[in-house]
Amino acid sequence: MNKREYYTGIDYFRFIAALLIIAIHTSPLGKINDTGNFILTRVVARVAVPFFFMTSGFFMLSRYDYNGARLIKFIKRTAVLYGISILLYMPINIYNGYFKMDHFVPNFIKDILFDGTMYHLWYLPAAIMGGTIALYLVRHFDYKAAFAISGILYFIGLFGDSYYGVSDSLSGIYTYIFQVCDYTRNGIFFAPIFFVLGGFIAENSNKSSMVKNLWGFVISFSLMLFEALTLRSLNVQRHDSMYIFLLPCMYFLFLFILNFKGKCIAWLKNASLIIYIIHPMMIVMVGVFSGISHRWAILSDDFLINFAVVCVWSVSFSIIAVFFLEKIIQKQDKISAYTDRTYIEINLKHLEHNVCELKNAMGPECELMAVVKDEAYGHGGYEISTHLDKIGVRAYAVATIDEGIKLRKYGVRGEILILGYTAVSRANEIKRYNLTQTLISPDYADALNEQGICVKAHIKIDTGMHRLGFDREAVSEVKKCFSMKNIAVTGIFTHLCCSDSNREDDIEFTKGQIKGFYDLLDVLKEAGISLPKIHIQSSYGLLNYPELACDYVRAGVALYGVKSLPEDAQKLPLDLRPVLSLKSRIILIRQVKKGDSVGYGRSYIAEKDSIIAILPVGYGDGIPRSLSNTGAVLINGMTAPIVGRVCMDQLAVDITFIKDAAVGDMATLISNNNDSLCSADVAKKAGSISNELLSRMGARLPVVLHGSI
Ligand SMILES: *Cc1c(COP(=O)(O)O)cnc(C)c1O
Repeated sequence: MNKREYYTGIDYFRFIAALLIIAIHTSPLGKINDTGNFILTRVVARVAVPFFFMTSGFFMLSRYDYNGARLIKFIKRTAVLYGISILLYMPINIYNGYFKMDHFVPNFIKDILFDGTMYHLWYLPAAIMGGTIALYLVRHFDYKAAFAISGILYFIGLFGDSYYGVSDSLSGIYTYIFQVCDYTRNGIFFAPIFFVLGGFIAENSNKSSMVKNLWGFVISFSLMLFEALTLRSLNVQRHDSMYIFLLPCMYFLFLFILNFKGKCIAWLKNASLIIYIIHPMMIVMVGVFSGISHRWAILSDDFLINFAVVCVWSVSFSIIAVFFLEKIIQKQDKISAYTDRTYIEINLKHLEHNVCELKNAMGPECELMAVVKDEAYGHGGYEISTHLDKIGVRAYAVATIDEGIKLRKYGVRGEILILGYTAVSRANEIKRYNLTQTLISPDYADALNEQGICVKAHIKIDTGMHRLGFDREAVSEVKKCFSMKNIAVTGIFTHLCCSDSNREDDIEFTKGQIKGFYDLLDVLKEAGISLPKIHIQSSYGLLNYPELACDYVRAGVALYGVKSLPEDAQKLPLDLRPVLSLKSRIILIRQVKKGDSVGYGRSYIAEKDSIIAILPVGYGDGIPRSLSNTGAVLINGMTAPIVGRVCMDQLAVDITFIKDAAVGDMATLISNNNDSLCSADVAKKAGSISNELLSRMGARLPVVLHGSI
């Protein structure tokens, strides 16, 4: 069951919001009931644009976006879209005499920056400005201050919008503002707070009650309705986008929508955007069409029908446009320069699926801690961690502080636990990047505490692996950590060393490890210590001991959908799908005669006349040298054995029987199906385990996304 896979609610509501915006611009109830139309288009539909801003904030805004990389990507995309939209509407602008207006240049600049060259396009520069201001605020202050400042901006905006006429003396000041922009519902006063709100929810909404949020929404919406009708009857509104109760209304609405999870509906997201951009064009076209003949006059005379037709045309156009855009993007993908040699292909759909499978297997109170050490087990640290961040994973484990810092620089939010050793002299960096350090021994804890810099830490308990951690008997040392001035203990954990085995003695040993850990926790509890987050299981811990109900599962290898070895025990029958495949291309085909040797050391001698293909991939790319003369690859659906020694940068395969193989053909070295080239089988052949095979990959190879369009 893929129940918790993606924010499907957001995708659906995007679509609803796009239709609401068409309503704003067509007044469907305009001729039926004035107040009804006001409520629909000036109150209900006013949630649409803030929702779009919040969605952008939710996915994009991160206070760890240190060099603004995420923001810049967002700005670039929005700016390109804005440019295209401006050009798209040029003919209509020309027809309307836009270029003949007085003081053209200052007005044009004003439009580009704030108001848009067409009435709906203000949204795009507002998104750029709002996103930039919001990032500045959350980067340089905490969320409280960011709320306060963007709230003040919003407050200023209110008095230039629906509260305009409340005070005459104020209105005077606003004439200055209105020289620069025509409205206050723009990127400075309106958008920032919704971006901040979206980013805040992304970092802080773990679990929230659907019913509570619905009530919150209903109550704040009612208050907003009351507010809007009152302001309207007082006749003080200059414009009607901004209300005080719009803020709680959006907060609860967004949390409510987040509850709907399921499949990602990417086309719906793009279609909504296209509807937004093109609907004014459709309004014009419906108008032109209805003017052609009296028989069609009803299309523009009846507002409700007009609204419906504009909706149908806009939606139809957007679906066709999405279809063609996807085609174009796919074509571009094929000729990407990254795939000409050897590359890692990542299937993010499989990653999402695995996240969902693991979450469903965990208790409802347990959170997934994605282990992304060593470039996410060779899958590409950037691609994996930013995607996990996007789909809502809020806990990560890395091996080193530098991996943690890198994650933060990608903008990854949530907890980041460093599992390994960090020099205590780097305590300032642990703090600056909001990382959590593992306390590996009592001496280490003392030394870290003495740095005088307060950092978050998890205590590691050694229950039998004898690698890192406090002895489980060292009760007083563990207790002492909880009272250290500069260490905030936020977690305590242990690591199982044979949870992947179903041998009786191994199971006994594991149970002993688990018991030892819980005994220690009991002692701490008795001493009046309130326990921090606890965690025990890694991938196999979850698969074979699913009954343990902890606060985190630290999943690595299972997250990437593979087993360490094919024969590993797995009690829980999860459907995990490999995320990575390793692909290369034939660059050269040559004939060898019977008795010829291939490669270094002449370790392979052809038994007959053969055809050999050279692949540009070797141990420098992560293919173990131990696969020399034993491994195989897949070419055009057929198996080609590796012949001769694997070199640093090349290897040779025998393709004598693959008659249609040609230069440029793809060869799969590790497949993302559970077949004979799955990483566990390849690793076993090489005398290792998936974990090693995968993590050695990627230093030189480009990572290409599959199925992300
Ligand atoms: C690497 C690591 C994990 C992840 O292990 P998998 O078997 O890949 O899930 C969990 N905990 C610790 C301490 C680790 O070092």
